[in-house]
Amino acid sequence: MHLTKTLPFDKKKIDEIIKIHPTPFHVYDEKGIRDNAKRLTEAFSWAPGFREYFAVKANPNPYIVKVMREEGFGADCSSLPELMLAEKAGIKGEMIMLTSNDTPVSEFEYAKKLGAILNLDDITHIDFVDSNIGLPEVISFRYNPGPLKGGNAIIGVPEEAKYGLTRDQLFDAYKIVKQRGVKRFGLHTMIASNELNADYFVDTAEILFDLVCDLSKTIGIDFEFVNLGGGFGIPYRPGDKPLDLEYISDRIRGAYVEKIEARGLKPLRICMESGRLMTGPYGFLVTTAIHKKEIYKDYIGVDACMADLMRPALYGAYHHITVLGKENENQIKRYDVTGSLCENNDKFAIDRMLPVIERGDILVMHDTGAHGYAMGFNYNGKLRSAEFLLKEDGSVQKIRRAETVDDYFATLDFSGM
Ligand SMILES: *Cc1c(COP(=O)(O)O)cnc(C)c1O
Repeated sequence: MHLTKTLPFDKKKIDEIIKIHPTPFHVYDEKGIRDNAKRLTEAFSWAPGFREYFAVKANPNPYIVKVMREEGFGADCSSLPELMLAEKAGIKGEMIMLTSNDTPVSEFEYAKKLGAILNLDDITHIDFVDSNIGLPEVISFRYNPGPLKGGNAIIGVPEEAKYGLTRDQLFDAYKIVKQRGVKRFGLHTMIASNELNADYFVDTAEILFDLVCDLSKTIGIDFEFVNLGGGFGIPYRPGDKPLDLEYISDRIRGAYVEKIEARGLKPLRICMESGRLMTGPYGFLVTTAIHKKEIYKDYIGVDACMADLMRPALYGAYHHITVLGKENENQIKRYDVTGSLCENNDKFAIDRMLPVIERGDILVMHDTGAHGYAMGFNYNGKLRSAEFLLKEDGSVQKIRRAETVDDYFATLDFSGM
């Protein structure tokens, strides 16, 4: 018996798409995204004003961001184009949060124009924003816990991270913005990535609740929200256990009662800015085996490459592969599954046991819905794939066309040669 992962479509559905559009392409499962979004909302329904700001960088497609909006979520942005995407998806005002670093003036300016919440990454950004565009009415700061007392194995080494303010700086920062007329306050941290340990997020909430209490009392301000950041992991491997959102919510509720309510603090909105958790499991990269090569190892060459999905090449990340129509065949062959880049790390899988694959077989890479298409690049003249949305009614909508050579040349002017 081998562990497996399921697909929200069958071979017939994919063949339907292939008839009108060649591989490779990503396909996103709208129903999966919406069901998961509702589950998150339900899990935190106890929390006053709970709000997820979808991390746009995970899947910067306006059709996906619009689904997020329809589920009641906002957008977490970290660049000017991401702010514009959120705007185009109909997300407005304080439903947009700018969590950026090393931020140019133009970005702060656009965010302020949209009425977005500025989540500042450094104490010097107070003057930077104030002198360039003026401080807005609401400000949040990003906390970097650095060498936490007693250490915390799961949090890792925030001291090495470029983000956020130190604890001491936070006390100065809120004091300064209060003096300069800022009226409403938030606190943010984000120190994990693809974390599957549920207790980590409870720890994060506890750290922020305690800090909100200390800051409120010392400075004499009330906090409106805390933002637990993103970094919620998903089960890429068949044996991985998904995060238990209900458990996380329950434990955070306990901490909220103890550290916020019991201390008589004002109601605090709990925010998250998850990307991976919201769309990761609901995206699939569909690709065709175009070559079979047997040298020192056996290779399957597919028509997708790391331009479409960087994670395996970049981090050695695991993405499960299903060979369509061969789901029930024995996985008796050991393959490297490769893309076409002139980089030996352009491999979607190394030494992966799969059914015998023939040229023309359709391979589906799982869990490409976040940091998949989004990370792609054009190195080696490789063009990025199309994106499709598998809608709840079973129809399929093209939500991004594939790149063409003209796109690749778009920034060149050959006339000056
Ligand atoms: C990348 C990022 C996120 C989203 O991370 P996920 O791992 O996709 O949840 C959220 N907030 C900030 C500031 C980020 O940089």
